[in-house]
Amino acid sequence: MSSPAVETETKLEVEAHGVRKSYGDLEVLKGVDFQVRSGEVSCIIGPSGSGKSTFLRCLNALESYDDGVLLVEGLHVGYEYKNGKYYEWNTKQFANFRSEIGMVFQRFNLFGHLSAEENVAVALTEVRGMSKSAAMDRARQELAKVGLEKHAHKRPHQLSGGQQQRVAIARALAMDPKIMLFDEPTSALDPELVDEVLEAMKRLALAGMTMVVVTHEMGFAREVADTVHFFDDGVVVESGDPREVLSNPQKDRTKAFLAKVL
Ligand code: ADP
Ligand code: MG
Repeated sequence: MSSPAVETETKLEVEAHGVRKSYGDLEVLKGVDFQVRSGEVSCIIGPSGSGKSTFLRCLNALESYDDGVLLVEGLHVGYEYKNGKYYEWNTKQFANFRSEIGMVFQRFNLFGHLSAEENVAVALTEVRGMSKSAAMDRARQELAKVGLEKHAHKRPHQLSGGQQQRVAIARALAMDPKIMLFDEPTSALDPELVDEVLEAMKRLALAGMTMVVVTHEMGFAREVADTVHFFDDGVVVESGDPREVLSNPQKDRTKAFLAKVL
C-alpha cells in the first residue's frame, strides 16, 4: 500500500465530484465521481446511452454541466472564482482551455480539401499563430510519430479510415495537449484497421500522455489502462485496476455488462 506522501506526489489532472447534467427533463449525468492522475490512462466502458460521451464533452467544456465540481488541470471547468464569486468563462477563456485538451472522436472530421499535413498544420497557424512553414514542419513530425510520414501529402479520401484516424490523433498532438480524450476512436473503423489506431494510442500512453479513452476494446483496456471506469445510467458504478474490474467485477451491473461484451 502506498503512503499518503506518495499519493499526493502524482497530480490529479481530472477530478469530478457529483457532476450532473440534464437535457431538458432527461438527466444524463447523475453525479459522476471520477479521477485521473497525471500520466495515467483511464478507460471508460459502459452501455450505449450511459452518458460516456456527454461526460467527455463536459471534460473539455464542449458541454456545460449543471451541478457538481469538475476540475481539469486544476481549473474549475467553465468558471473563474473572483472576489468571492464564480463567473462563467468568456469566449477567450473557453478557447484557451479547449486548445490545451486534445480530443479524438469516432468520426475523424478532417477537412476533405486539405492534405493530411495541412489538416494537422491548420490549428497551429490559426490558433497558435505559427508560420505556415513551421506549422508544416511540425505537422510532418507528428504524422511521422503515427507512422504516416509517407502519406503527408494525401487528402483524406486517399487514406484508409485507420490512416485518417491517425491523422486526427496527430492533429490533436500537434497542439501539445496536456491531456488527450478519445471517444470510441475505433468504433467507426473496419475491423482490420482497428489495431493500427490502438497501436498509435498505446505508443502515446507509453510516452506518458494522460489519456481518457471511451472504448469497447476490452483488450486495449486490459493491456493499456491504469484504471477502468464502468459507467451505467449516468454514474460511475465501479472503478479500478483493469485486471480487477474486468476479471473480477464487484457490482452486479458491471458483471451483467461484461457478460454481454466479453
Ligand atoms: P454514451 O456516449 O454513453 O452512449 P451519451 O452521453 O451520448 O451516451 O448520451 C447519454 C444520453 O443523453 C442518451 O440518452 C442521449 O440520447 C442523450 N443525449 C446526448 N446528447 C444529447 C443532446 N445534445 N440533447 C439531448 N439528449 C442528448
Ligand atoms: Mg458515446
